[in-house]
Amino acid sequence: MADSVTGICQGLARGEFSSVEITQDYLARIQQHNPVLNCFISVTEELALEQARQADAIRSAGNAGPLNGVPIAHKDLFCTDGVRTSCGSRILDNFVAPYDATVIEHFKRDGAVMLGKTNMDEFAMGSSNENSFYGPVANPWNIQQVPGGSSGGSAAAVAAGLAPAATGTDTGGSIRQPAAFCGITGIKPTYGRVSRYGMIAYGSSLDQGGPFARSAEDCALLLQTMAGFDHRDSTCSEEAVPDFSARLAQGIEGVKIGLPAEFFAEGLDSHLAAVIDTAIAELRKLGADIKEISLPNTGLSIPTYYVIAMAECSSNLSRFDGVRFGYRCENPVDLEDLYKRSRGEGFGAEVKRRILIGTYALSAGYYDAYYLKAQQLRRMIKDDFQSAFEKVDLILGPTTPGVAFRIGAKTDDPVSMYLQDIYTISLNLAGLPGMSLPVGFVDGLPVGMQLIGNYFDEAGLLAVAHSYQQVTDWHLQTPDIPS
Ligand code: GLN
Repeated sequence: MADSVTGICQGLARGEFSSVEITQDYLARIQQHNPVLNCFISVTEELALEQARQADAIRSAGNAGPLNGVPIAHKDLFCTDGVRTSCGSRILDNFVAPYDATVIEHFKRDGAVMLGKTNMDEFAMGSSNENSFYGPVANPWNIQQVPGGSSGGSAAAVAAGLAPAATGTDTGGSIRQPAAFCGITGIKPTYGRVSRYGMIAYGSSLDQGGPFARSAEDCALLLQTMAGFDHRDSTCSEEAVPDFSARLAQGIEGVKIGLPAEFFAEGLDSHLAAVIDTAIAELRKLGADIKEISLPNTGLSIPTYYVIAMAECSSNLSRFDGVRFGYRCENPVDLEDLYKRSRGEGFGAEVKRRILIGTYALSAGYYDAYYLKAQQLRRMIKDDFQSAFEKVDLILGPTTPGVAFRIGAKTDDPVSMYLQDIYTISLNLAGLPGMSLPVGFVDGLPVGMQLIGNYFDEAGLLAVAHSYQQVTDWHLQTPDIPS
């Protein structure tokens, strides 16, 4: 089964099936495949069927919203009223959110049905989904391999047909990299396009929510629901939200696309590079004007990102103290013991590593050498993109240096794990939108191509991806999942 959101919307509108029926189909698929894939932390079966019944009633009354009755999975980092919101962590294993994130409110407003909450790296820290308290997620294309991270559960669920679409968040690549590893389409919008209210914070100046689906056409529908100003997030933009679906037709003809030399240099798998080259040739045939460009500070993006993200996470995660919500250790002897043991027992190893490094980078005496320096480099990385966008409309490159790796292959080597993010994190530092779409396979595993746009040009990215998907069928391929 590989239903598209667009197809489901049409089927529901024509009365070919009800929301209850399609929701039951997805719940049955989740029941069948989740034991192997581990995509979901919580399956909200009863709530889903209740929302589906309501959606059917609303449709009969003639008031259907744009996603009325469409089942969707949400990354377990978006607060969902009355439903456990764990963020992949033991420290929030018992946390039932008392309110909805703005993104969740928007999906409810537009009539979507929530299937459940998806697995993820703890607090969105990771590139393989191996840092989850709830165990790793398997890649549906080969269950020995990782699905990517941190939104691995969402990406694997969509690839495996356990949900037609899902939400994710991207601080340094966590939508684009798992989309690439799982052979689906995902977009990280411009920083500020989607409200962060109710999204559990990792690196607040980098975090951005976005959708996963099979196609750019479906992502356009989802992003329409997610985007828009929210007074509860002071960094949310008032920029007008265009009609993303209407803009899909603008196509590729005459679009100037830049290939950064630094993205095709040493470190990129040669088989993967060959697949990307074929996709570039396809875009050229469709009328794109392809040129070489340079993003000279690409090599600085990993150290810059990991200083800033860790500094911000050390501050954001100080709220988890065992006092107000979440895990509390047994029998604390005093307040300090309560803090130490609740955090010591509640957080996993990677989260602790990042809090330690971030606290160090922010400490008096080291702040100038690390955090301040990283902010200066961040500006240089942003300036690189701005000069590139004086010459081209879009930038294109691989999403990842290689295809999905084996579960366990990089867990003992955090630096090699961090190097996975080389092509994705510079966009978060600059606040730019980017997406990944499937363009082929290497060794039976999907390859993702990344498109990067100028600020608030998600429509331009989606239009190019859509034109490509009109003439290719990589986005329609589905894996055979072993039971
Ligand atoms: N892999 C990156 C990290 O571990 C990005 C994660 C993300 O985008 N949430 O920080």
